[in-house]
Amino acid sequence: MTDCGTLWYVLGMSQSLFPTRWQHDRPPSIEQFMAMFPDDYACAEHLAKKRWPNGFVCPHCGSTKGWRLETRPWVFQCSGQGGPPQGGKRCRRQTSVIAGTVMHGTHLPLRTWFLAAYLVATHSNAISALQPQPKLGLGSYKTAWLLLHKLRRAMVNPDRTPLDGAVEVDETQIAYRTSTQPVTGGGGNSPIGKVFVVAAVERLPGNKSGGIRLKAIAANNAKYLKPFVEENTALGCEIHTDGKKSYLNLPNRKHFPVTLRGSNLPAHIPFVRIHRVFANLKRWGLGTFHGFRAKHIDAYLGEFVFRWNRKRSFQSAMDTLLGIGQKLPRTIYRDIVGDTTEWRRAHQRQIFNMVSPSRLMVAKAIAARDGIALIDALDEIGPSIVKYPRKPPRRPVLPPRRVGDTRRGPRSRGAPRLPREEVEKGWLRHQRFLA
Ligand SMILES: [Zn+2]
Repeated sequence: MTDCGTLWYVLGMSQSLFPTRWQHDRPPSIEQFMAMFPDDYACAEHLAKKRWPNGFVCPHCGSTKGWRLETRPWVFQCSGQGGPPQGGKRCRRQTSVIAGTVMHGTHLPLRTWFLAAYLVATHSNAISALQPQPKLGLGSYKTAWLLLHKLRRAMVNPDRTPLDGAVEVDETQIAYRTSTQPVTGGGGNSPIGKVFVVAAVERLPGNKSGGIRLKAIAANNAKYLKPFVEENTALGCEIHTDGKKSYLNLPNRKHFPVTLRGSNLPAHIPFVRIHRVFANLKRWGLGTFHGFRAKHIDAYLGEFVFRWNRKRSFQSAMDTLLGIGQKLPRTIYRDIVGDTTEWRRAHQRQIFNMVSPSRLMVAKAIAARDGIALIDALDEIGPSIVKYPRKPPRRPVLPPRRVGDTRRGPRSRGAPRLPREEVEKGWLRHQRFLA
């Protein structure tokens, strides 16, 4: 055997020894990924290229001239001359490339988001927030949890195409757990401690499955099942269900019910794909999250659908996770957890910290006298009549960067900052430049 032949033989062996699930679109190695996105600047560049493949275009005036802000590399400022709509004035409109993505309004470096998306997209199952917190160097579990939940929100694109062809639809019950108790669903068909989940899966030849959809529903009846089918399947497709009456009279779709009651046929024989989905989903929920909780079940179902539908393409998984090309609303912690008592208490503490001690003392006296809450007592006092002098800004006003300067802005965390005397020197130079 020649050397070349040996090499191909070894390569062939390695292919079969280490098979990959990434058949179409392999992810880059960790090293390659770090080299591709070394800093926020590179991440912003990637986002800008996705938004404007042919270069910057101002969404306001259509000008192709612009520059990016030095301190916030994801913000582009138009330098177009402006047309009649602006009355001949310069446009100067600022456009952020993270608007409409999951990173909208973030305080984390863009690189942290990219790394988080890489971790989530290349993981086979799912990661809980305890894992990325130390890996990404995040300060708190809450930050990591919020980051993952924001990525989960981006996993479900509202404009996705509906399932088509032959589609199996069925529903199941999944036992959930509370924050302290393990999974304790009622036995048999009991709905206690369980959530109804309806699913649809595309039939592909050879017992294979195509895309899937999942949804948690309040009750197992036509009121919830029919809207799910109409929302998630294309007009004119085939719907295969069991003999449940809730699926009868589906509008504009061909319905093929199979009555299993009275026959000896087990349900997983005619509906092999949908039972595979449910079996995987239940195993995934127990294994990764030690059981779903009712509150965030939609987010976890969305993640399962995302992982199923994009299991073999890295690039589209990354883009979807970061919300590239989507128009996501800005999401904050409160949008995800809701108005909790804990949040309200923290908010009140914040207010009390801002109030002067003397005003707080008066408010406490009023609260004790009238028997009202402290926060309401503060309202009774009304605004302060003392006018405090306004503090000058702590941050120096920075001159524009000159050729050869390597100054980094305060927004890029961890980046080396220019010593104060250097900043002042630059400011003096700028003054001379203006004079
Ligand atoms: Zn413009």
